[in-house]
Order: sequence, then C-alpha cells, then structure tokens
Amino acid sequence: MSNFESLGLSKKLLRAISDEGYDTPTPVQAQCIPLLLDGKDVLGVAQTGTGKTAAFALPVLQKILEKNISHKRQIRALILSPTRELAAQIDERFSVYSKYIDMRHKVIFGGVSQKPQVQSLRKGIDVLVATPGRLLDLMQQGHIHLNNVEFFVLDEADRMLDMGFIRDIKKILKILPRKRQNLLFSATMPTSIANLANSFLNDAQMVDLSPKEITVDRIEQSILFVRKEDKRKLIVNMIKENNVKKGIVFTRTKHGANRLVKQLDKAGIEALAIHGNKSQGARTKALEKFKLGNVPLLVATDIASRGIDVEGVTHVFNFDLPNEPESYVHRIGRTARAGKSGIAFAFCDDSESGYLVGIQNLIGKKIPVIDDHSFHFENAIPKPGQKPGKIKENKNNNSNRNNNNRKYGSKDGNRNNKNSRRR
Ligand code: AMP
Repeated sequence: MSNFESLGLSKKLLRAISDEGYDTPTPVQAQCIPLLLDGKDVLGVAQTGTGKTAAFALPVLQKILEKNISHKRQIRALILSPTRELAAQIDERFSVYSKYIDMRHKVIFGGVSQKPQVQSLRKGIDVLVATPGRLLDLMQQGHIHLNNVEFFVLDEADRMLDMGFIRDIKKILKILPRKRQNLLFSATMPTSIANLANSFLNDAQMVDLSPKEITVDRIEQSILFVRKEDKRKLIVNMIKENNVKKGIVFTRTKHGANRLVKQLDKAGIEALAIHGNKSQGARTKALEKFKLGNVPLLVATDIASRGIDVEGVTHVFNFDLPNEPESYVHRIGRTARAGKSGIAFAFCDDSESGYLVGIQNLIGKKIPVIDDHSFHFENAIPKPGQKPGKIKENKNNNSNRNNNNRKYGSKDGNRNNKNSRRR
C-alpha cells in the first residue's frame, strides 16, 4: 500500500496532511496524485467522500510550490464546482492543505454580495474556487482574468450538467489558455459527460472508482415498505428508536423538506431544512449547527446536500426514494465517510417501487428489508419482473396496483387525495 511520502509531495504538504491525521492515501488519491504531478490530464469517476478534493488540491499546491511566482499573484488554478456548499468546502480544504505554504486562495459563489469577493480578488490570488454563474458575472465585469490558468478542475461534472451549467462551462473553457492541465471529476459517466470530457481533456488518463465498487460495503442499508401517508410516523419512530444524534433525511422536494421539519418538530425532534429556496446565510447556519452537533438532523434535498462533508454522520434516511438511482448512492455516501461505517434507511411507498428496482440494479444487490415495523405495506414491494422507474399512479391499465390501493378503502383514498393536493 502506498503512503503519502512515496507520492512525491513536498514536506510542507506532508506536514499539513499529517496534521489532519491522514496516514494512507485513499484509492482516488493514490491513483490521481502521481498522474497529476506528472502533468497528465485526468478523467476521474469518483464521488464525494472518496477523498477526491485532496486528490486534486495536493498536486495543485505542489505545482504552485514548485514554480513559485510570488511577485505577482495571478489565478493559476481554477476549480469549478456546481454548488456553493461544495465550493466552500473545497476552499476550506485548500486552507487546511496549504497552511505551510505561501499562497492565496478564494472561493466565489452567487447568492451573497460580490463586494468582499471583488476586494479579495483585487489583492491577487493563486487558486480560485468558483461556481460557474458568479465566475462569469465577475469575469464580465472585468474583476477576474483567467489568462494565467495552468490547472483547471471541473468537479462533479454530472451535477453541473444536471443543473444546466453546460453553456456556462463552455464559455469559461473558451476563455482559458490553451496550454493547461485539466481534471474532470464525475460520479457517473453518461455519454453527455464523456462527450464533455472529450471536448477539453487531452490524452486523459482514466481513474475509475465508480460507486458500484465503493458504495456500499461499509454502509448497513435497509429498506422499509410503507404507505406514503405513514412515512412521517415511521420516521419519528425510527429516529427515536435509533437514538439518532447526527442524521440526514432526504426528501424529494423543498416543500417536502420544510413540511417534514415542522412535523418532526411537533414530535419533539429538532431538525433544520437545507435546500435551494433557503438563503445562503440560512444554509450555512444550518450546516454549521449540524456540524457542531447542535441540531441532530438535517432535512435536505439532493442539490443542497451534494458534497456536504460533515464528519460523523451516523444515519441517512431516504424519506423519499430518489428518481435517479445514482442519487441514492450519493445520499447514503453522506455517512460512512473516510473509512467509517454508517446506517442507511430507505422508505419506499407504492409509487416508488420502480425507483427501488433501478437503485438495486445500479448497486447490483437487493437491499435487505425491515418488515417488523408498525407500518409495513406489502403493496409497495416491487412486483417480480417490475421495470425500473416511476410507477404511474391512477392509470386504468395498472389494474393490479389500483385494486390493491382500493383494498384499503375510502379512508386511505381520502388521505391520498389530501396529500396529492398539498404536494
Ligand atoms: P472528499 O471526498 O474530498 O470530500 O473527502 C471526504 C473526507 O475524507 C473529508 O472529510 C476528508 O478530510 C477526508 N479524507 C480525505 N483524504 C483522506 C485520507 N487520506 N485519510 C483520511 N481522511 C481523508
């Protein structure tokens, strides 16, 4: 097994890493760091939680150290990230790894005043971490010049594309100097990402740590079948029974997240919501409280949670199953970070069983079922041969399912209607 010393990193970096308590490079670090130090472009298939930030941050810092142009600080490395939270985390990692190095880095993202960002940029920086929108804004206003960028990192490329950043990325790529080193990280590798990678990586080396291999071994996963309207009662029971001190609950929608926080509150369980409708200040505050252990639960949507790196998350709840199977892997990856183990519970109602099929196909195994709970609902179990994907509700031709729904009589029918109005 390799160690950090054998990777060829400078003493100043090794000291910072050792201060952090890292003894062994993670697989993505062991593979990426030598390639990047060697000047290669890298296409990395890896998700957050694998140590990928250090996999690019350490080589970037090493290069800056090796060719120190201290008289004039110009942006030499640009890291693009899809969300503010992730950008802030990457920047925070740069602070940690560069603590013995004379370099400046800065993070910029939208949703907050640009003034302090512009002021820091004026002083000159070596490494810029940015979300695409704010980067383009500040470039167009003439506050940012990218003509000295030697190192370009596109992080979470799949999420970038999901969030509609492709045009922004293309604009930014056009402005960057031709001669530079590139790195693209993505948790998945659909054709759209492969095409994007081909468009700007040169003779890239592939480092593939795709989720199938890494998910899930250290995470104890279970699935609970339940009616939609019983999920709230079930989650209250589960949180109390498991004495959850640091857990993340995922809902599909922002409203769902807000509603659940209120319902948990009524049951005496403190939780904070984190999603795209919350102001940046509220998101940062919620995350900080959660990190410090002042609130035991975050209720999050996928986009807001992506990349959240909080140590010691013991439980992840999929209150709603995600409609993209990859999101399940990202979600449960919030626990079991950096070698620790974790517990992931997923709730599946009868409209979500197709999603469960998709998830089980992706991870290549059946998730163990917990059925000895008060709200177990047989009807939500996928039928033999069921196809992955969304179950269309209230369709006449889906007679089996509708009949089963009817079996529970008008009370459930009414409750379902009420729920669907509120959705
Ligand atoms: P990342 O995938 O970059 O978000 O990193 C996930 C977590 O792993 C962060 O909390 C890092 O501080 C931690 N980490 C990264 N590399 C190592 C390592 N080699 N040993 C132990 N922890 C690490």
